Amino acid sequence: MTPQRANNNMVTIAERLNNAYDRITKAEQNCHISDPVQLLAVSKTKPIELIQQAYDAGQRLFGESYVQEAVDKVMHFKQYKDIEWHFIGPIQSNKSRHIAEHFNWVQSVDRIKIARRLSEQRPTNLKPLNVLIQVNISQDEKKSGCPLEELSDLAQFISETKQLTLRGLMTITAQTDDVDQQLQYFQQMKHCFDKLKTQYPHIDTLSMGMSGDLEPAVSAGATMVRIGTDIFGKRQ
Ligand SMILES: *Cc1c(COP(=O)(O)O)cnc(C)c1O
Repeated sequence: MTPQRANNNMVTIAERLNNAYDRITKAEQNCHISDPVQLLAVSKTKPIELIQQAYDAGQRLFGESYVQEAVDKVMHFKQYKDIEWHFIGPIQSNKSRHIAEHFNWVQSVDRIKIARRLSEQRPTNLKPLNVLIQVNISQDEKKSGCPLEELSDLAQFISETKQLTLRGLMTITAQTDDVDQQLQYFQQMKHCFDKLKTQYPHIDTLSMGMSGDLEPAVSAGATMVRIGTDIFGKRQ
């Protein structure tokens, strides 16, 4: 198939997706990682048409951050049963119901109050909601995410809750030029993940790394990276 050119030599979504997968493959090979790292295509703020193009190119995992636009998109693609929708944005308690009703995964659970609401609001005819705990690994008070001291209580709560399935951890690290610091945070996340896994052997997902820092994340042991800009272009 010849790749379709959009106007003005713009690179198509299919080509950009390919490039992102190539980058991941190279990072895996550099560190001799054999289990393929998953790619979550972060489509927040981007129109339906671009998501459709990514889907047509074979992408099935999509991430969204803003509840209202996310729900519109999930509804639009309702017939596409093989899409897996991940909510990755901040969760306000008055919006949690929409997330519980429309998503397959939530990666940004950082407190028991939200976990409890999501479980109560998850419709019983749906499979349990897959949950990642978002960890504030840089211990930055301005950042969201569960503080390390509270991780074990939150993990226990989620794992004992029928409508939720604990799948692992997620973090967002600040963009920084300090590559060593960045790598250290990713390695600390991997350490937390391995420790949690001794208690909950079924957890399988460590979500970290974005367009700017997927290589150090993969080298530290990410099982999933979340790529927006590199696939869909800059956001306004
Ligand atoms: C927006 C966003 C991303 C994607 O970031 P890019 O730098 O555009 O790749 C990843 N994770 C989260 C939680 C985000 O909000």
